Amino acid sequence: MQIYKVGGAVRDRLLGRPVTDIDWVVVGATTEEMLAKGFRPVGADFPVFLHPKSGEEYALARTERKSGRGYGGFTFHASPEVTLEEDLIRRDLTINAMAEDDQQNLTDPYHGQRDLEARLLRHVSPAFAEDPLRVLRVARFAARYAGLGFTVAPETLALMRQLSESGELEALTAERSWKEIARALMEDQPQVFIQVLRECGALKVLMPEVDALFGVPQPEAHHPEIDTGVHTLSVLEQAAQHKQPLTVRWACLLHDLGKGLTPEEEWPRHIAHEQKGLKLIKAVNERFKAPKDCQELALLVGEYHTHGHRALELKPSTLLELLQSFDVYRRPQRFEEFIAACEMDARGRKGLEQRSYPQADYLRGAATTARSVAVQPLLEKGFKGPELGEAIKRERLKALKAYKEKA
Ligand code: ATP
Ligand code: MG
Repeated sequence: MQIYKVGGAVRDRLLGRPVTDIDWVVVGATTEEMLAKGFRPVGADFPVFLHPKSGEEYALARTERKSGRGYGGFTFHASPEVTLEEDLIRRDLTINAMAEDDQQNLTDPYHGQRDLEARLLRHVSPAFAEDPLRVLRVARFAARYAGLGFTVAPETLALMRQLSESGELEALTAERSWKEIARALMEDQPQVFIQVLRECGALKVLMPEVDALFGVPQPEAHHPEIDTGVHTLSVLEQAAQHKQPLTVRWACLLHDLGKGLTPEEEWPRHIAHEQKGLKLIKAVNERFKAPKDCQELALLVGEYHTHGHRALELKPSTLLELLQSFDVYRRPQRFEEFIAACEMDARGRKGLEQRSYPQADYLRGAATTARSVAVQPLLEKGFKGPELGEAIKRERLKALKAYKEKA
């Protein structure tokens, strides 16, 4: 049997990027031989094994054929006769379809190295169109490598457009889509992921609520970039530049969905877009079965981001309500993430990226103030049950009034 390094490990070594996980392909072997060498079988769908020591993935060379809709609709053929070239041709991009032996000899039948140099994400063969997940994968790679100057080859974008229009994207499961979305949002330029999806028509299918923001104007005085879609991309870009976690990036993407619902006659104003957007945020959350912390933050940021921006003008009672809504007493981290999302929103405006955001420290101070109200003295005074709750609230309000006056 011959063993080759494939996929991302080869690509990233040639790009001079750190290689984190290594995928291997094994040519000329049977499942029985792999098991005899101590490899542990893992693939439910494909003949894939884990190395007994390194734990890395070793897949038997295989060919694939489309046999139905969606991801399940594949039949594969693995046997010792399948060649390396036959295995590589089923892969998505030319830069992902190179293999390397233990002497670092490159096998590159589909000119991945040429495309690496040309900075092009190009599909290997027309079979690309057989798996709709590849639309998301290519957009994710575009987000990762945009900084190196990579773009999607026009003929690949055309295929992605075909896939988006064919209805195949709907066959993707929430789990597979979310995995790609989450990884893409954590890349260096997540806004490129959304942009590429939009260019090929996939955004309209996957997240019509986000797609609808493009072409919707906002008041120029607050939003020099005017377009709500452009603004959303900038907010996401800021979130990545400030190394925000997934929760914050997800909330940034969805925070303004309500603006897509404003009747044209009301443009460029968007009265109550925060409330109106909630049902859209909920729908997107549920469509992809986003993790609970992402869902929660997106809804809270959607509802309260304008409160964040107006923090210094809020009445103490409104400030207290805000803090209560976030349960800052038990969930301080979540409030930090809310503040971060608001700040990214403010910075995601053309020409205002560097402007300071004093609201952030003001909100932090308010949270600290409310949290520092001691419960013990109230207990000692004999407050119990709901009365105790009311008394705590009164004390917090008093503290916030003093805080606001001092600020
Ligand atoms: P990453 O750095 O994100 O791990 P990768 O290229 O190694 O990138 P993997 O998901 O680990 O991506 O997959 C390994 C290889 O398997 C890819 O390089 C590609 O050749 C192939 N591959 C994975 N998923 C698909 C797919 N849906 N369609 C075609 N080829 C795929
Ligand atoms: Mg990999």
